[in-house]
Amino acid sequence: MSSVKIRFLGGALEVGKEGVLVSNSSHTVLLDYGSTVSDDNPKFPEHVRPTEVDAAVLSHAHLDHSGALPYLYINNGPEVFLTEPTLELGRLLLRDFLNISGERLPYEFVEVEKMSGRATLVGYGDRVSRGGFEMSFLNAGHIPGSMMTSLSIDSKRILFTGDFNMLDTRLLKGAETVSEEYDAVIMEGTYSNKDHADRHDMEMELVAACNQIVEEGGTVLIPAFSVGRSHEVVASLRANGFKHQIHLDGMAREAAEIILRHPTYLRDHSEVERALNSVDWIDGWGSRKKAVRTPGVVVSPAGMLRGGAAAFYMERVAFEKKNGVFLVSYQAVNTPGRMLIESGKLPFRGKLRSVEAKVQSFDFSSHAGKSHLVKFIQALGGTPKVYLVHGEAESLRSFAQEMTQKSGVPVHAPSIGEIVEV
Ligand SMILES: [Zn+2]
Repeated sequence: MSSVKIRFLGGALEVGKEGVLVSNSSHTVLLDYGSTVSDDNPKFPEHVRPTEVDAAVLSHAHLDHSGALPYLYINNGPEVFLTEPTLELGRLLLRDFLNISGERLPYEFVEVEKMSGRATLVGYGDRVSRGGFEMSFLNAGHIPGSMMTSLSIDSKRILFTGDFNMLDTRLLKGAETVSEEYDAVIMEGTYSNKDHADRHDMEMELVAACNQIVEEGGTVLIPAFSVGRSHEVVASLRANGFKHQIHLDGMAREAAEIILRHPTYLRDHSEVERALNSVDWIDGWGSRKKAVRTPGVVVSPAGMLRGGAAAFYMERVAFEKKNGVFLVSYQAVNTPGRMLIESGKLPFRGKLRSVEAKVQSFDFSSHAGKSHLVKFIQALGGTPKVYLVHGEAESLRSFAQEMTQKSGVPVHAPSIGEIVEV
């Protein structure tokens, strides 16, 4: 009988603090170890002892996958496999996380350094063996450097998708379907309840909406995360002929330098480079004030309007009719962004105030939509059991039920702490 087990440490029936352990009787691999990000107090997945982990894998740089990982390096943490963009973007995000939430985190930047010292860089198509595990890595199409991990141990095969997207975007080539045989697949299900709008139509709509506001003398605020989404939006505006000024705020500049340094991870390096070279970088309060006085587009964190320079921009953009606030990110519950979509109001100096600017949402998601998740599952070889993680509980459960009952594919949405045998 097999003794290969999967234990879900976090990111199960929730978005945030992803963490999965795969082990047999003598060896263990940790897949991602993230933290919550929309909480005031960051939470971590269930505890693991660094000494019980032979190796860790980091699927991509986002904090909900990486934010708890440095905690394992307070003493001697495990070797960690990741791509070079993931290491560099991860260090950038972890440094920022420490700047913002440092006093509430149980590690410091020295642990991030120790983690970097234990990094083994891998690329798509690479194969490695450690402690009885064979692992290989595939493009996940989610953010620059993101990867899926294929593991074999004791003749069992497991696929961990991490976050993935099958569509080509401005920045990235989409993930391809996988037809190899697996016994278990751990798959993200952020959008297991819906499909995305047609990408091309949506890009054209965004350009038209931005043109209209800017040509009538207004400013468009696009709240967007500094790693990936900001660059995707800029590249999309330029690729579709948007000629006016674009200002880019936050860590987007450092992230852009990292992204452009790794051309093989981009779909079309020169298109991205041209677009990013055309923007005005915001590097302080002076240029921030100037940016909101001139008609144009300002792309700035935070994507959900909490933190970053969001409060500054909201105050100057949201309460005037001539302006626009265009949302391009997932808006989690209890964030100002979600409040804006649901009520048209924003918290302002302790009160809720109606927004006068034009508010519109554009679906720039970098996660696979429902029919792509189905397509991905159907392309898999063998008869794998699918474990759906990383999504709101209700969507994960109903997708699992639908797939199991209607399509006869066993899909299960595990809970935190659940252990399954492969
Ligand atoms: Zn992600």
